[in-house]
Amino acid sequence: LQLLAGEIAVVTGGASGIGRATARLFAEHGAAVVVADRRREPREGGVPIDREISDTGGRATFVECDVRRAAGRDAAVAAAEELGGISVLVNNAGIFRVGGFLDVTEDDYDLVTEVNVRSAYFMAQAAARAMVPRGRGVVVNLSSVAGLRGAAGCTVYCATKGAIRLLTYAMADELGPHGIRAVAVHPGYIATAMNTDDVPSLGTPAEADYVAGIPLRRVADPAEVAKAALFAASDLASYVSGSSIVVDGGRTAS
Ligand code: NAD
Repeated sequence: LQLLAGEIAVVTGGASGIGRATARLFAEHGAAVVVADRRREPREGGVPIDREISDTGGRATFVECDVRRAAGRDAAVAAAEELGGISVLVNNAGIFRVGGFLDVTEDDYDLVTEVNVRSAYFMAQAAARAMVPRGRGVVVNLSSVAGLRGAAGCTVYCATKGAIRLLTYAMADELGPHGIRAVAVHPGYIATAMNTDDVPSLGTPAEADYVAGIPLRRVADPAEVAKAALFAASDLASYVSGSSIVVDGGRTAS
């Protein structure tokens, strides 16, 4: 069963981590995938996903795209238009930083909000401008459990991911009459370079502490988030819009 046959999907930050797993799963389900990232090499190592997909008979193309720049966002949409027209955007590119509330500088604040909110906002706008005339489309925005509850030491990130949640709901309200759905996906603790390189916790004592608070008692694989994005993007979710899918092993609710 191919859940995305005939769909054209743009996945920002699609070179690594959750985006890479999403690009792979979407291609397996028949979508043509535009991998839009500022780098092609996966942060976790391995084969670039566009090559992996092409080598295994799927359709994928890589577009160099820094989502902070309009030119990059437009290039990603243009690549999808060439393939037949963007019908799915996974707004996944994001960065994670920690720092005490009393210590955060304006530069830290600007960087994280620029990537996680401003860029996601205008990426969605570029996609929606192409979708509206066709009267169909789906935008899947990557929020986080940090968009549902506050966490010490991560105030800026929480603020950005909370903004993404309400951006999603507001987009659903405004774009629903055009046949466009918007869904937020909220990952919990996922095994990606974000948690090994940016803010290392995987493989440190902090991992065990965090996992002890997760009812399923384990870290998730990025593919488990991709499955939620697949559901959100597919017709299985035809009446799901303006809502949140939490993929956190039960952490936030417990
Ligand atoms: P990652 O760092 O493994 O991959 C992120 C990808 O985004 C990289 O390929 C990177 O090059 C790309 N990227 C970063 N800035 C970019 C920019 N300006 N323009 C274009 N591409 C850019 O991260 P991940 O863990 O896969 O996270 C993906 C999304 O999921 C993020 O929005 C993140 O906030 C969210 N998330 C992750 C976790 C987690 O535990 N890993 C938890 C909750 C939410």
